[in-house]
Amino acid sequence: MKEIPVRSSFALMLAFEEPLSSIPLKGLSFKNSEVLSWGFCDSSKPGRSITGERWVLHSTAEYAERIISQTGPQKPSSATLTKVAEDLFQEFQCTGIGISQPYFKKAHRWGSAFPAASIAREQKCLWDVKKRLAICGDFCVSPNVEGAIISGMAAASKVTEILSSL
Ligand SMILES: Cc1cc2nc3c(=O)[nH]c(=O)nc-3n(C[C@H](O)[C@H](O)[C@H](O)COP(=O)(O)OP(=O)(O)OC[C@H]3O[C@@H](n4cnc5c(N)ncnc54)[C@H](O)[C@@H]3O)c2cc1C
Repeated sequence: MKEIPVRSSFALMLAFEEPLSSIPLKGLSFKNSEVLSWGFCDSSKPGRSITGERWVLHSTAEYAERIISQTGPQKPSSATLTKVAEDLFQEFQCTGIGISQPYFKKAHRWGSAFPAASIAREQKCLWDVKKRLAICGDFCVSPNVEGAIISGMAAASKVTEILSSL
């Protein structure tokens, strides 16, 4: 069985009284940030409460590793999580896109959050033609639903190819 190396991340949940109308998107990735990698508008997901607006920010793996190397591998203290929340929120504000003050701000550590590397970036899934076996998942492409869907579609197309040649 192939073991997939994983990396940690910190996630920050933010809740705002009013929607962040200065952001015309429901998800964004941060380029050239040493602290933040992704942000998602959690309130835009189906079935979520429509009062105010909630966002989830993810730290970079490098930031998480730096904090863990300073504080140790044990469960982070509330002081550490408060500092992480401040760091992530400050970086969000540094984008200059007019982020208001949230009424709720809480960070948590996500131990084995992401695969350290995508294991099938080209093929999008693992495929053993002799065994007619396709294996798909976010770990093949990227650690999000988009990655999982792309990988699932690649695996389905491999299986369809085999079935149509029978
Ligand atoms: C808390 C959280 C929040 C997230 N938020 C976002 C987000 O906002 N946006 C985004 O894009 N992504 C998000 N993700 C990531 C996203 O959920 C995953 O990338 C996606 O679900 C991966 O899909 P998958 O089918 O590859 O794996 P999974 O969804 O993990 O599905 C794997 C399935 O295999 C089953 N399974 C595992 N082992 C076995 C076994 N031995 N036998 C039988 N069945 C087994 C599991 O029970 C599970 O049903 C989040 C993930 C978490 C945990």
